[in-house]
Amino acid sequence: MIELRGVTKEYAGGVRALGGVSLHVGAGELVAIVGPSGSGKSTMLNVLGTLDRPTAGTVRIDGHDVGRLSDSALSALRASRIGFVFQQFHLASGTRALDNVADGLLYSGLRPSVRRRRAADALERVGLAHRLHHEPHELSGGERQRVAIARAVAGEPALLLADEPTGALDSASGEGVMALLRGLHAAGTTVVIITHDREIADGLPRRVRMRDGLVVEDSALPPLEKAEAAR
Ligand code: ADP
Repeated sequence: MIELRGVTKEYAGGVRALGGVSLHVGAGELVAIVGPSGSGKSTMLNVLGTLDRPTAGTVRIDGHDVGRLSDSALSALRASRIGFVFQQFHLASGTRALDNVADGLLYSGLRPSVRRRRAADALERVGLAHRLHHEPHELSGGERQRVAIARAVAGEPALLLADEPTGALDSASGEGVMALLRGLHAAGTTVVIITHDREIADGLPRRVRMRDGLVVEDSALPPLEKAEAAR
């Protein structure tokens, strides 16, 4: 599903956010990305999500060599195959839950009535069938994040990327969100989650640790490769 080879990312001013990252994530995996603040986790997620192009190296997502795709082909890949969840939800204010989710399907080519029906189904799957007509300010943090998850999965993406999805939630709401993400993984979606929460990371089948723009540990690699990755 994901293959990064020697990926670097430099920002203006000489900041090297990724220093040559190689990573393979198979279809259907559930992976935690951990590491201190500033270690390159979000930059890597943005590259995985094709929101950002690397400075060098190759990125393959779902069989596509991202570097060879035009911006419009990349947008199409992103819209049809990748879902995003962020720490601060990123919902449109003043817009009811149903439309927040349906608007995520704007580029799907589906008719508005079909988009709304899919949105209602997705909201039902995350336990919010009774909140379709509520606006974000009428919802709790946990409910807002569940709306964001419904929006991310309404188009049935193969890959779900989550950047600190529980970071702004109390622990009970956070557990609810994690249960949803696990359920999506169980149903076959590939899920990659950035988390600062040690308990959450330790509960996931694979952990990739970053430091200073490099992968320094990957629980899926055998010891020899681990040592090399850490070098
Ligand atoms: P993390 O998610 O682990 O906190 P980031 O990927 O956000 O790390 O950041 C990695 C490094 O890249 C940091 O030094 C950060 O300041 C820098 N950085 C991130 N985004 C930008 C940007 N848009 N412009 C310049 N520097 C950036």
